[in-house]
Amino acid sequence: MNKTKIIATVGPSTTAKKVLMDIIANGVDIIRINMSHATHAYCKKIINELNEINQELKLHVPIMLDLAGPEVRVQKIEHDEIELLPDTMIEIYADGRIGNGESISVNHKELIEYVKFNSILKLDDGKITLQVIDKLEDYIRCKVLTGGLLKTGKSVNVPGINLHLPFLSEKDKSDILFAHKNHVDFLALSFVHDGEDILEVTDLLIDQKDDHMSVISKIECESAIEEIDEIIRLSDGVMVARGDLGVEIPLERVPGVTKMVISKCHSAGKLSIIATDLMSSMEYSMEPTRAEVSDVANAVLDGVDAIVLTGETTMGLYPVETVSMMEKIIESTEIDINYYELLDKAMRTEKQDITGALAYSVVECADRLKTRAIVIPTMTGKTVKKISRFRPSCPIIALSPHEDVLKELSMYFGVYAYPMKEVKSFDKLIETARKVMVSKVALKPFDKFIVTGGYPLGETSHTNFMKIEEL
Ligand code: PEP
Repeated sequence: MNKTKIIATVGPSTTAKKVLMDIIANGVDIIRINMSHATHAYCKKIINELNEINQELKLHVPIMLDLAGPEVRVQKIEHDEIELLPDTMIEIYADGRIGNGESISVNHKELIEYVKFNSILKLDDGKITLQVIDKLEDYIRCKVLTGGLLKTGKSVNVPGINLHLPFLSEKDKSDILFAHKNHVDFLALSFVHDGEDILEVTDLLIDQKDDHMSVISKIECESAIEEIDEIIRLSDGVMVARGDLGVEIPLERVPGVTKMVISKCHSAGKLSIIATDLMSSMEYSMEPTRAEVSDVANAVLDGVDAIVLTGETTMGLYPVETVSMMEKIIESTEIDINYYELLDKAMRTEKQDITGALAYSVVECADRLKTRAIVIPTMTGKTVKKISRFRPSCPIIALSPHEDVLKELSMYFGVYAYPMKEVKSFDKLIETARKVMVSKVALKPFDKFIVTGGYPLGETSHTNFMKIEEL
């Protein structure tokens, strides 16, 4: 039972229900849709397919919608791609024209307005670079410095230049409403600059009376790094979006910033997620590179909650193989996580309250006794999140009568979520936990597991019991 979760972004390679089912069967825990590329009709299709898969396989795989946010992107290109050759010229407009070898259009006119003579434009996460050599009223002319194949929808970054884009566009607002209406579980916010950006979204969710959707802030620009503590405080979790981050800040700073964000999330008890280029060579190859295997393993050893596949599962030739390779790396690396160090660090930053003290004791006890699992019946998921923060070396089995809670908890490190009926007595609660353990974990005689939570279920605000069971 792997503890580090896999988020797969869906796209043309994974749209078919059969492939979606295959990637889930091979280890995907969360499905992500990137709203920079997807229409509502496409999202609806994926959501319907996922609902069917969840029903057919009795799973609770949640869905994440990732807002386009204030990001400049290349609009439609003839046949969806053009080759940009070094030292040639390309004109950039913001008038919605179909792009070709001579000119392309971007989705924000502010790019034309605010770039300067000699500004460097980085396209497709920096794979292609252009230099502005002429700035005219409604377009700019650029020289191609580093060429490459440019595809429809690819990103355009101008490091160091504030393009004064509003955080939420009308499209983002309509995507948030769509997410609410379709009961999406996680909303990822692109290009968060500070706490104000998050509050703009949470206000919209409050207006909709949506208390289900978790908010994940993406860290992909310098100002988000400066405001990281406030961003973590106001979010349910944070995603280090290394694609854009590696363009907005010097590439060599990305690993250090990534580790800093993971560590701060762990201290704050918030979700930490790492995205992009974890196994990108597998878009075209059946084997990852040694460096990619190390990159995935490194994130696992750092104790992140989840890692994100992007191009590998949207456009890649081998989405299923990529997922199963990632699952294998996770499985083999989790043995080497320094669980004690993660527990110790979480304990040092934990509040001095009943829930924190008991949760620490449960995990310490589970590690000491090498229990097969920690079983947590829960109405809200609160105890489960707390136990997950202490990073136990055994799986956490979360039991809840609420589908929404099961889906939310599926993102957390080490958590496996299963439905249960509401129970009225403590004995019945322990019996339910025992039954689930027998059916979900291959228990052997004398195997131990811990049952913990707050009793009476849903009536107490803190974790107040721990029971050690032996087979
Ligand atoms: C990223 O930039 O790494 C990322 C995950 O965001 P997007 O896919 O929106 O570019």
